[in-house]
Amino acid sequence: MHDVVIVGAGPVGLFLACELGLAGCSVLVLEREPQPQSPFKAEPFGMRGLSGASVGAFYRRGLLPQLLSASGMSEDPGAPTASPLRGAGHFAGMMLDPARIDVDSLPYWLPSPAPRSLRTHLEAVETVLSERASGLGVDIRYGVAVTDVTQNERGAVAHAGGHTYPARWLVGCDGGRSTVRKLAGFPFEGTEPQFTGYSMQVTVAVPEKLDFGFHLTPQGMYLRLLPGHLAMMDFDGGAFDRSRQPTLDHLQSVLRRVSGTDVTLSEVQLATTFTDRAMQATTYRQGRVLLAGDAAHIHSPLGGQGLNLGIGDAMNLGWKLAATVRGHAPQGLLDTYTRERRPVGAAVLDWSRAQVAVMRPGPYAQAVQGVVRDLIGTRDGTTYVFERISGAWIRYDLGGEHPLVGRDAPDLHLEDGSRLGDLMGDGRGVVLDFSAEQSLRPAAKNRESRLRYVAGAARNDLGLGAVLVRPDGVVVWADGRTPDRPAFEAAVSEWFGDPES
Ligand SMILES: Cc1cc2nc3c(=O)[nH]c(=O)nc-3n(C[C@H](O)[C@H](O)[C@H](O)COP(=O)(O)OP(=O)(O)OC[C@H]3O[C@@H](n4cnc5c(N)ncnc54)[C@H](O)[C@@H]3O)c2cc1C
Repeated sequence: MHDVVIVGAGPVGLFLACELGLAGCSVLVLEREPQPQSPFKAEPFGMRGLSGASVGAFYRRGLLPQLLSASGMSEDPGAPTASPLRGAGHFAGMMLDPARIDVDSLPYWLPSPAPRSLRTHLEAVETVLSERASGLGVDIRYGVAVTDVTQNERGAVAHAGGHTYPARWLVGCDGGRSTVRKLAGFPFEGTEPQFTGYSMQVTVAVPEKLDFGFHLTPQGMYLRLLPGHLAMMDFDGGAFDRSRQPTLDHLQSVLRRVSGTDVTLSEVQLATTFTDRAMQATTYRQGRVLLAGDAAHIHSPLGGQGLNLGIGDAMNLGWKLAATVRGHAPQGLLDTYTRERRPVGAAVLDWSRAQVAVMRPGPYAQAVQGVVRDLIGTRDGTTYVFERISGAWIRYDLGGEHPLVGRDAPDLHLEDGSRLGDLMGDGRGVVLDFSAEQSLRPAAKNRESRLRYVAGAARNDLGLGAVLVRPDGVVVWADGRTPDRPAFEAAVSEWFGDPES
């Protein structure tokens, strides 16, 4: 009997396993594939863009050096980036100009060793996470396909290959076609696809016929970023049957139509398809079963958001589920998972739909495209799109008066050289008390196993006297120069439960 069984050892399941393992839970991960390696996880197919919020999650758990190194980045992870801008991203294939981003208007941004974006690949992400998870005692079993899930009020059971795997909680991190979601009866609602997307490793007879970069065309979009690799979107209503393997003839005919060229493919090494079907579970919890990542929401990969959304789910859920397992969660804590993450997922689905809407063939969408292109050409427009892509826009509705409450905490830097990000490696919440009186110490100290109290002056305190940060890096309380102690104590009880006896 484990505390938690996670179905699926993709990036989200592994991230969640690390969070639970860090908090001392016993965790079993069941993965259908017999081994973690796949050509679709390595470059170019597995290439993924991580947002600042996701990179920040790795940074806070001390995994940034491993992630940078596995992603082939040679830079010194200890050196804070003076600028948040790197590979700023795109909207429906319209590239952002990093020079136009108004860094000063980004809410509460401070320089940090964690870059605001990172180009990596699934293999790197999963390797870093599975090594950490194993080091924390998580049991990861490959070649175990879960075929049934049952639950009662005390726990849930995963069934696979004639074996049963009981646990107090079960989390489906088993991707877009989630078996757990279907078996546990989670309603899944949304919109049907407009296009079929293709990602392919090919030999092109005369590659110069296709320009590098993103290309919106009257028939869809094609994308050439790496030699030998192409992606394209064909507005066929998502008609291509994904259970079929696309042939060379099919790929060439779609590519010719979408690109408007007479390009010839001489060989297809590997190809995969996807759509922009956009669906979301109406709740992320049914009794003892929860969902995270693509199991809870699917949408097109446009603008690279799915993995970031899933890592956000795992970071949000991990400490809440751990506190519930260990018996010190305040009343209702676990239900805040759906309440906080579902609106973020819904917004990402709409962001994806908005991109599809401006890419559709025809004069109306092309007219909107022109308007969006003009807006993205402005400083405000670029900054707006960058905030959406980077995750900087996310603010949970947690009440509270301070504008920082509900946001991802800035990487506050203390006079002694320590940074907030460094202080979060053990998975506890953090109180930073910049006030001379250190009046918050007693309330924090009597929950020491869940909350780290740190007093001292900050190099740039952003006008704050003190700040209370959850284990997932979200600010739940903040105050000006003279902290309001009763308000702080109420926030500590609300998020961290009763004092330790
Ligand atoms: C072409 C493309 C480009 C993308 N680019 C980006 C990007 O740049 N940025 C971004 O943020 N996102 C991107 N995404 C989306 C991103 O890849 C996904 O959102 C992310 O991989 C989801 O992770 P996950 O762990 O939830 O699911 P998955 O990665 O799908 O992992 C699920 C795991 O569960 C296992 N599993 C399934 N069923 C069972 C079962 N019954 N029993 C046991 N195990 C099971 C699977 O084998 C798999 O290992 C892209 C997607 C595509 C298709």
